[in-house]
Amino acid sequence: NSATTFSKLSQGKLIVLTGPSGVGKGTLMRTLLQRHPELYYSVSATTRAPRPGEIDGKHYHFIERSKFEQLVAHGEFLEWAEFAGNYYGTLRLAVLNQINLGKCVVLEIELEGARQIRTSFPEAKSIFILPPSLTELENRIRGRGQDPEEAIRRRLNRAHEEIQAADEFDVQIVNDDFEAALQSIETALDSFANCKQ
Ligand code: 5GP
Repeated sequence: NSATTFSKLSQGKLIVLTGPSGVGKGTLMRTLLQRHPELYYSVSATTRAPRPGEIDGKHYHFIERSKFEQLVAHGEFLEWAEFAGNYYGTLRLAVLNQINLGKCVVLEIELEGARQIRTSFPEAKSIFILPPSLTELENRIRGRGQDPEEAIRRRLNRAHEEIQAADEFDVQIVNDDFEAALQSIETALDSFANCKQ
């Protein structure tokens, strides 16, 4: 089965970046990819509506709920989760292809999905990004100014839960100073899998 094949081939080549919404993992990820084009970023599928400026196929594959459920039923996701009322998932095929090409694949996903990856692929390496404080996290989530109040409230509640789980992951990094956080991620990548060139 593909999971077994993947396990054997992927020694240290699958990296999971997780942490609460608003912690800045998206921005860290984007900068990381700019500096390290050798990393492969897996574009997720989601049922959430695009935010202004988001491009289908680049930031996410934006799909209908019915389509998402169909993909789940066909086992097309490596992991998936419901988050703040929407589905998010990592498409299996794209990731496996890149792993088989020997690439380092980086997933930027929420807690439940990260746990699924850890269970399915114990050799995957995981990084948890923490905010400097909960107050700072709330400011960042609100400051994004693009989500309705109800969505903000759900994200905040969820963020509090997610932070409790930080210790489950291989490395914890506080995103206080952006450059310092980025460097810590780069160091972690080095020690994991020689992903960074
Ligand atoms: P946002 O709506 O702010 O883009 O993302 C909400 C949360 O979903 C973030 O924590 C993000 O990391 C996570 N997320 C994005 N893609 C995936 C995915 O494919 N799987 C899972 N489990 N979470 C995802």
